[in-house]
Amino acid sequence: MLNSPIRSLEKIGPSYENKLRNLDIHTIENLLYHFPVRYEDRRVLDKLNNLVLGQKASVEGVIWQIKTTRTKYGKFLTFATINDGTSSLECVWFNQAYINRVIKSGQKLGFSGKVENFNGKLTLINPEYEFISPNSFPIHTRGLVPVYPETKGVSSKWLRSKISWLIKSKILTGFEILPNHILKRYNLIGWTESIKNIHFPANLDQINRAKKRLAFEELFLLQLEGKKIRLDWQENLTSYPFVVDRKKIDRFIAELPFSLTKAQKTVLKEIYRDLGKNKPMNRLLQGDVGSGKTIVAVIISYIAFLNKKEVVFMAPTEILANQHFKTLSSLLNPYGMKVGLQTGSTKTKSKVNLQVGTHALITSKILTKNIGLIIIDEQQRFGVKQRSLLRKRNTKAHYLTMSATPIPRTMALTLYGDLDLSIIDELPVGRKKVRTFVVPPEKRDRAYTFIRKHLRKGSQAFIICPLIDPSETLVSVKSATAEWEKLKTKIFPEYSVDLLHGRLKSKEKNAVITKFKKGKSDVLVSTPVVEVGIDVPNATIMVVEAAERFGLAQLHQIRGRVGRGSNESFCLLFTESQDLEVLKRLAHMETSHLGLELAELDLKIRGPGQLLGTAQHGVKPLKIADLSNNDLINKSKIEAEIIIKSDPKLNKHPLLKSKLASEKMSPD
Ligand code: ADP
Ligand code: MG
Repeated sequence: MLNSPIRSLEKIGPSYENKLRNLDIHTIENLLYHFPVRYEDRRVLDKLNNLVLGQKASVEGVIWQIKTTRTKYGKFLTFATINDGTSSLECVWFNQAYINRVIKSGQKLGFSGKVENFNGKLTLINPEYEFISPNSFPIHTRGLVPVYPETKGVSSKWLRSKISWLIKSKILTGFEILPNHILKRYNLIGWTESIKNIHFPANLDQINRAKKRLAFEELFLLQLEGKKIRLDWQENLTSYPFVVDRKKIDRFIAELPFSLTKAQKTVLKEIYRDLGKNKPMNRLLQGDVGSGKTIVAVIISYIAFLNKKEVVFMAPTEILANQHFKTLSSLLNPYGMKVGLQTGSTKTKSKVNLQVGTHALITSKILTKNIGLIIIDEQQRFGVKQRSLLRKRNTKAHYLTMSATPIPRTMALTLYGDLDLSIIDELPVGRKKVRTFVVPPEKRDRAYTFIRKHLRKGSQAFIICPLIDPSETLVSVKSATAEWEKLKTKIFPEYSVDLLHGRLKSKEKNAVITKFKKGKSDVLVSTPVVEVGIDVPNATIMVVEAAERFGLAQLHQIRGRVGRGSNESFCLLFTESQDLEVLKRLAHMETSHLGLELAELDLKIRGPGQLLGTAQHGVKPLKIADLSNNDLINKSKIEAEIIIKSDPKLNKHPLLKSKLASEKMSPD
């Protein structure tokens, strides 16, 4: 069976099982879905009398003699002389004396490697080799040879042998999960053929056709699962239908210090509709940094309150939770709503109508109470597990998750198929563009002078340290600390420079943030981890160190920390890179100020992998499909919809059903 554990295969014991775990291979199916990253083209069989120095050659020959010698430095050299009828050639392997036991003279083998000069003779150095016999098919030295993601102790050669053995073992029959009519409609090849050809293709066309089929399958399963989760969710759950008292809400909105943007109004209407139903809302609100998502959350919190339900508002960091606590209190207290704060370091004891907090809330007792609305800010910051746990603990509440990570709409719908999507696609009027400059090393001093000039006028600056690791490792903290020392003593000695990173105690973090917000420090040096959500209107300068390490969409989010006040703001992207492509990519930041546009550029330039790191979106990365392939996304979506409509339990599609049950592909 495909989902049998990998150790059920011959010659795979606990040791290989462990190593394979590093590649996320646990089952036979995982091994078959471990796709090549590229292929070595060894389709042409070279003749020994035609070889030239420096070429990559694939040859076949009979071993005339093989011997191992020892150099005076104690190294083993294994020499083999081969002949293919046109000429002879020497092969040499360093420190692989066992080869002398494996290969015997008189045997016929295939070899693949680079032709180099050794002791004045053309020689294949450390070539790959395999035995050739009339009834075996060479997989290492001939054809388009797959090269795989490897791990210590698991080479491409090893993977090739195992996968080729599996393919020959006939295990591959009877596992077609795509219905026949779909294969026909989109001219897709069958599953068995696709697995064979993705690993051992005869030509490029076979690779493309295999990729297309497997990508379709991946997108189809992803969307089918999203739709299924959503259906089960809606079928089994009831919620509290909220009455939206338009008069009261409109008055609340009228009393805000600004008028809502058109986009905010549209989104609110979409949400009102959801809240009126007796099925729980499950909506993703996406909007650029500064587009005003918080106020939307505030307004619907007020609706929950008017309906006598409590609200939970979860933020990814204590800093943000604190900030939200203040904003929400000041907006909602006048309307009789009590707001509480619950983080690792603070806990409101009294009964409140709205509880703001960090992930500490997930395990908190309050979740089982009278909660009618759960709001999750910056949802991509929470892990898959955290979110599903949250949902399991309170299935009746309406859910609104908010994200500033700009991903194109089709992509969002594919990835979060179980969520409805609302987008705020405009910024409040009068918001000024943050003037952005890429700063090469020779202009660094001038940049510091520029910053000093602004500090002198009373502005404040953020300095974001290089992205070293997506999580806050000790290394990032160290580098931020070193940078801070330098800035404090050498660059801005006359100003107050503070340091912020994720390893500070939350009390210290809050103290640093509060000091900066109050204008009592001038420069805040910070790791990228703390980049989200802080609102400091007087900060007009954002510096990013080693900017090339960030994605454009990510830089855009960081840049959004400034430009919140009425003064002109600047973003300086420091880079030491000389690579023209890199500089060209960064230059987009100077001209584009739209998150979605930058996200699409990221996608085009760096590929979906960049945009869709698991850390960024809390979803499993795709193996083969390209999320910018709208055509395939749409086709697979249509087919997933048809199937789920006609067969919601998938009882007529048992293979599909068990596939979805065994793989948890969805974010929630
Ligand atoms: P984000 O979407 O990044 O969470 P916020 O909700 O923090 O953005 O809003 C950013 C700032 O814009 C806040 O200071 C907020 O008060 C302000 N704001 C929100 N909506 C509007 C609006 N319609 N007009 C003017 N300012 C607004
Ligand atoms: Mg926000």
